[in-house]
Amino acid sequence: MTSDNAAAQIVWFRSDLRLTDHAPLLAACELGKPIIACYVLDESNSWRLGGASRWWLHHSLASLASELEALGGRLILRRGSARQVLNDLVTESGATHVHCSAGPEPQEAALEESLRADLEARAIELTYHPGALLFVPDAIYTKKGDPFQVFTPFWKALLALPDPDAPLPAPEQVEFYKDDIHSESLQDFRLLPRAPDWAIEFGETWTPGELGAHSHLEEFLDSLITGYRNIRDLPHANATSNLSAHLRFGEISPRQVWHAVRAHMAQSPPTRPGGEAFLRQLGWREFSYHLLHHWPTLPSEPFRGEYADFPWREDAVALECWQQGRTGYPIVDAGMRQLWRTGWMHNRVRMVAASFLVKHLLIPWQDGASWFWGTLVDADLANNSASWQWVAGCGADAAPYFRIFNPMLQGEKFDPDGAYIRRWVPELSKLPSRYIHEPWTAPADVLEAAGVELGQDYPRPIVDHHAARARALTAYSQLRAKTTFKPRPPRRDLTPTVHG
Ligand code: FAD
Repeated sequence: MTSDNAAAQIVWFRSDLRLTDHAPLLAACELGKPIIACYVLDESNSWRLGGASRWWLHHSLASLASELEALGGRLILRRGSARQVLNDLVTESGATHVHCSAGPEPQEAALEESLRADLEARAIELTYHPGALLFVPDAIYTKKGDPFQVFTPFWKALLALPDPDAPLPAPEQVEFYKDDIHSESLQDFRLLPRAPDWAIEFGETWTPGELGAHSHLEEFLDSLITGYRNIRDLPHANATSNLSAHLRFGEISPRQVWHAVRAHMAQSPPTRPGGEAFLRQLGWREFSYHLLHHWPTLPSEPFRGEYADFPWREDAVALECWQQGRTGYPIVDAGMRQLWRTGWMHNRVRMVAASFLVKHLLIPWQDGASWFWGTLVDADLANNSASWQWVAGCGADAAPYFRIFNPMLQGEKFDPDGAYIRRWVPELSKLPSRYIHEPWTAPADVLEAAGVELGQDYPRPIVDHHAARARALTAYSQLRAKTTFKPRPPRRDLTPTVHG
């Protein structure tokens, strides 16, 4: 430590890998002391990132590092317990302040509290800034003061609040700490897959980083927002924003998205219905975090406690067929293959594929959530857990268990010509549209002309739809006969960990 740099401060980047609308960085710049920008890969966290998210993180960090370099600084990379690393960095640099975003997940609370205690004991100021959500998780309660369990009233309550704060600008100038601080290299983090490199197509599909996030937002505003309400459910239309992973890693903040969409709607009235439908989806993200905040067991335990007794099946073979996109149901297989090849799956198909696992195969939703956790570039503890529980019927405001998606009808409705299926299940690409959703009904000569031998080129259905549906309904009635339906109570120990 040199005397010039005695009053350094640390900006700890977490799931906020951007420079604009970054309250910790701006607050540090306003204080006017040299800044150490750091990222800590802390794998002691119980929700260790899955493989696809690690791929994203590698490229996102590379992008952030080059943005910081363009400002004359560098990103210090360290591995280990975040608590220990930050304490070490304070010791090495003599920093007087640490600024960071508050983790929106309750799973981060213990770390945040212990770090605060450590730094307070050393008279170091630590500030947790909000920014991962439109509103801090404690901003919205029912009139009775309870957390919401149903989306629509939650959304109305959110809309009744004053608009989310306007995004903050990027700092015009950043004064960086000049002394040598040890940094690992990004390669040391070993985030990329090796032997085999299963992420080859990811790079053709995605541009992780703040610039990529803003270019997706621009593209969405320029051409997609008008049709969003009507065609967002069509998986082949590429009509959604593709912002989920950018939001997950905080390369763009939800309020940046919110205000950009609102401004666009004001300028261009035809975009209003699409814009409103889109903002509602951001509302689902807020709702998922609201649920996770109040029910931190959401990732592992059913929100509706009685589902702990659901008669799930263990079936490793069926699970593997589902994971590999070999169930014999084309829309499910197309989705699962899109997921494997690109790290993303269209929302409608996520619902159909997830429903197939939990209802047609009766495999626990946690197994599906865990596969998604490993394979999605946007794997997000709140959204993934809440969405799986929604599909499985055990979540808050969930689709009732007895409503079972028919994969053939879903395919016909949302992929009528089979364009999505042809793209991801090429062995069926020559089948006429009338058979593409149920190839097993095609006459032998049609199959032959399309070059498909069922059981050879493409699997026969691993379960019969009608039999599977009946089995799922029986399992559900067994559960109903056994238990009364009661939601889990929310946690009562809430002490807000964020300001603002
Ligand atoms: P858009 O339609 O453009 O929506 C804009 C943003 O709103 C998204 O980026 C996302 O942040 C949010 N959003 C959209 N739909 C939902 C939703 N249903 N719930 C919560 N937020 C939503 N989304 C994730 O971000 N991470 C996950 O791990 C995840 N797992 C899912 C698992 C299942 C079983 C299902 C059914 C859905 C899951 N979703 C998850 C929600 C949704 O599928 C994705 O957010 C969406 O497909 C991302 O594409 P997009 O950015 O183009 O969405």
